[in-house]
Amino acid sequence: MTGRVFEIREFTLQDGPGPRTTVFLQGCPLRCAWCHNPEGQAFGGGREMTDCEVADGVLKTADFLIGSGGGVTFSGGEPLAQAGFVSAVIARLRAAEPRLTYAVETSGFAPAEAYREAVSQMDLVLQDLKFPDLEGYRRWTGVDASLIFTNLAWLKTSGIPFVARIPCIPGVNDTREAKEGMARLLADAPNLVKVELLPYNRFAGAKYAKLGRVYSPGFDEDRAPDLSPLRLDGNWDRGMGNG
Ligand code: SF4
Repeated sequence: MTGRVFEIREFTLQDGPGPRTTVFLQGCPLRCAWCHNPEGQAFGGGREMTDCEVADGVLKTADFLIGSGGGVTFSGGEPLAQAGFVSAVIARLRAAEPRLTYAVETSGFAPAEAYREAVSQMDLVLQDLKFPDLEGYRRWTGVDASLIFTNLAWLKTSGIPFVARIPCIPGVNDTREAKEGMARLLADAPNLVKVELLPYNRFAGAKYAKLGRVYSPGFDEDRAPDLSPLRLDGNWDRGMGNG
């Protein structure tokens, strides 16, 4: 089986617990105005690789990952746009090294069946959440996010540990109203490990010129996003803050 990959990066530290080897899958159906990986958006880019090639690339670091409490992360682009390929890579890896653990970083924008099949194989899900409602997604990412909310609802009942990652974009989704809405969506999830508020990456625009694209995000980049943590009620004890 083949898939499109734009990088296999070793020793990443932001993609789950411990040091990771992260497989960046090519292609994303969203067009977030602030995307800092524009080279990963187009489905036609990257490199075509077989599941064996990707597994072999990851296995070079397996002993280190196991010994250091790290693991393998699938990111992108949107990795679950190639959910079947992700599953094929994991099958290869499990056969070669059963002690490896897995995480996926996903927008959640994938058909429900594909999402459930791939996510069920993970030890941890890094689930992006950008808005509490369809309108925010439509305006700033260009998609109908019904799938995302359907998949999030399933994730909350799945028992699979997940981290909610919220990119905080100044003037876009860092309002009290938006953050409270997202916190309400997450508050009843028993498998929520923590919420990470990720500050807008002010260097996001640098890669666009190299791709012959103009970076014009449509919000005030110079304004610092509001990263203040929220506590909706006295029972919120799983953390809602940075990292
Ligand atoms: S979901 Fe991620 S990769 Fe896709 S456009 Fe948005 S920020 Fe970029």
